Amino acid sequence: MGKKEKYDIIVVGGGPAGAFFALEMIKTHPEKSILLIERGKRVEQRKCPEAETGKCLKCKPFCQIMNGFSGAGAFSDGKLSLYNKEDDDFYVGGNLHKYAGVDETKRLIDYTDGIYLEFGATKELEGVDHPGEISLIRKTAETAGLDLINIPIRHLGTDKAHILYQKIENYLEKHGVEFLFNAEVQDLTIEDNIVHGVIYKVKNEIYYVSADTVVLAVGRVGANWLLELCNKHNIKTSPGVIDVGVRYELKDSVMAQINELLYEGKFIAKPLPYNDKVRTFCQNPSGFVTTEVYDGGVTLVNGHALKDTKSTNTNLALLVSLNLRDMPNPMEYSRNIARNMNALAGGNVIVQRLGDIRMGKRTWPEELEKNSVVPTLKSASAGDLSLAMPYRELCDILGFIEMMDKVAPGFANPDNLMYGPELKFYSNKVELSTSLETSVSGLYSIGDGCGLTRGLMMASASGVYLARKMF
Ligand SMILES: Cc1cc2nc3c(=O)[nH]c(=O)nc-3n(C[C@H](O)[C@H](O)[C@H](O)COP(=O)(O)OP(=O)(O)OC[C@H]3O[C@@H](n4cnc5c(N)ncnc54)[C@H](O)[C@@H]3O)c2cc1C
Repeated sequence: MGKKEKYDIIVVGGGPAGAFFALEMIKTHPEKSILLIERGKRVEQRKCPEAETGKCLKCKPFCQIMNGFSGAGAFSDGKLSLYNKEDDDFYVGGNLHKYAGVDETKRLIDYTDGIYLEFGATKELEGVDHPGEISLIRKTAETAGLDLINIPIRHLGTDKAHILYQKIENYLEKHGVEFLFNAEVQDLTIEDNIVHGVIYKVKNEIYYVSADTVVLAVGRVGANWLLELCNKHNIKTSPGVIDVGVRYELKDSVMAQINELLYEGKFIAKPLPYNDKVRTFCQNPSGFVTTEVYDGGVTLVNGHALKDTKSTNTNLALLVSLNLRDMPNPMEYSRNIARNMNALAGGNVIVQRLGDIRMGKRTWPEELEKNSVVPTLKSASAGDLSLAMPYRELCDILGFIEMMDKVAPGFANPDNLMYGPELKFYSNKVELSTSLETSVSGLYSIGDGCGLTRGLMMASASGVYLARKMF
């Protein structure tokens, strides 16, 4: 299926990590032949039918939101998290700095940001003006027991992200990168701990293509498959932290100050009695709650904001981080929560009023119709999240909401909506060297799927870093 039987490099996954790896590789080593295998479609052919049908159709063979060129990035909100110059912590986005070092990671982010700008990203940054007002919000947060992390953000917007990634796709093709779309890698050939190629499937046909270097950039959507692959081939992994939570939706008016000054306020706290870390994540002013479907049909919630189409609600994730170090595969814990929650809603995601959760009752569809916060995800089933969300995580989230109410009065309004499940599948870490090579010679991994990163900017930067380190 590929034009050749052997390539210098095979990249599995065309998300931001794989795409930016290829972009940098054609600059640093234009002589190398690269085949990029992606199980989804070209970015310009990707379309989530939910926008028209009003409900998730669980697209076969793969969810359009998560798969295809630019990966989860195509329909993502395109909030590129940068960093604070005076700070040695990156707080969000992952752990690239643990491999590349802090200074190098800052340079990588600057460089990667420059590429996003070249391909048409907006020049404006969010969260950099009004330092006096931001420090007042920080003070109020600290009094309530919360930390506020303020990082400059470049906001593409979902609709603009799509166009930008299409330009990158065209550029790569023009510069000799070969693509295989609708092709799913099923396995690797590894002998004497050295990788030799990949086995992939197109429709129902199985093919083999060889390379001395293989890069796995399979994202969260491929994290479970990657773990199975590691188990099968004795590639070293270690369990990491999992994030379990909900998507929270409330009126823009409650979040007006935070939205205007920060666009995305990253708040962190450790509510009693469990002291678990709870944080806000992926805030979308005037945005929309969405769904995403994983292998095995697990449906999760997420959210995005469009540059040109606006709602009157803000949505954000409230995530609890847990370190289940005794579990060999903590992702199973999250998956079980998701399976139960989906099963309660007939395969769907659940939405519940905060006031109903507090009163220990489910939300009925007719109550939702009268609710002052109108859900932007029309397909979510009104129901009872507390039947499937563990007590501990629910307590953590409810405690956190009360704390946030002191920073943004109205954050604990009973009409605010909780959607579940929102989980992040990046808990199993593939063990990597400082040049991002796995324990198998010639086999590398980047991006979210191997637990290295957790966001667009770091995933993209991890691709750039690997291209520079590889040869
Ligand atoms: C709705 C939504 C909104 C988001 N908003 C933001 C945001 O505003 N800011 C931010 O920083 N992050 C955001 N994210 C997260 C961000 O999109 C990811 O962190 C980022 O895309 C990770 O890049 P990646 O290349 O590692 O993986 P992905 O983007 O997940 O790409 C992996 C690719 O690999 C392919 N693949 C997987 N397995 C195989 C296989 N076996 N064979 C062939 N191909 C395979 C998949 O089809 C996919 O295209 C959002 C995510 C979602 C879903």
